[in-house]
Amino acid sequence: MYIGGTVISSVEFHGNMSLVIFMSKCPLACRYCHNVELLEDESEKTFEEVKEEIDSSFDFLDAVVISGGEPLVQTDEVIEILEYVREIGLKTKLDTSGIYPEKLKKILDLGLLDYVSLDVKTTFPKYRKITGANVGFEVKKSMEYINDAGVHLEARTTYVPTLHTKKDIINLVDEITADVYTIQQFRNKNVLDPALEKVEVPNPHDLADLAREIKPYFDGIVKVKSGEFGEQVI
Ligand code: SF4
Repeated sequence: MYIGGTVISSVEFHGNMSLVIFMSKCPLACRYCHNVELLEDESEKTFEEVKEEIDSSFDFLDAVVISGGEPLVQTDEVIEILEYVREIGLKTKLDTSGIYPEKLKKILDLGLLDYVSLDVKTTFPKYRKITGANVGFEVKKSMEYINDAGVHLEARTTYVPTLHTKKDIINLVDEITADVYTIQQFRNKNVLDPALEKVEVPNPHDLADLAREIKPYFDGIVKVKSGEFGEQVI
């Protein structure tokens, strides 16, 4: 399986120590993507190697997070890992762009997920502007499947000043149903579209103001994630 790297993290699964596995490959081309090297990475690991890595950290792990890239490009491999993680009693989280609703449903139906972090990049009709593909319908479907499965859902948007307006974010939260909505600060280093390297990183205080503005429109917890302050509940 194509895996670009792994890292132990205390922030990817609130209050839990997790092993984060970065699955390579992704068919989208989000202009602000900062995982550029993962999109076409050819590094491979066998399932046995992944298992050994999980086992060697087992004593201090609470969870395994499957991230990317877009992990569901390698759905069978993701299922293989998640089944093992379930077998040894750790919690599971998947980070996904939501563009493969039926593959996601298959994993949800198997009961392999405790937590999904879903990128909602913009309002569903405007997806092409950010990702290069018209996949808003698929993302919406994924969100519905996660809600139907009763799995904890965090929807998150990377706020890019030249690609989003405040109105977009207000319209967007109106369209989503999730336990948590997080506005992430855009980073202008190592991004797919070099033009975005000239765009200023949004001020975290402005993001917090925006989060306060959208709070009345969202039935759940609203957060801001920035380089300066980490994760803040608004
Ligand atoms: S930001 Fe977009 S292009 Fe980059 S890995 Fe995520 S979904 Fe793929």
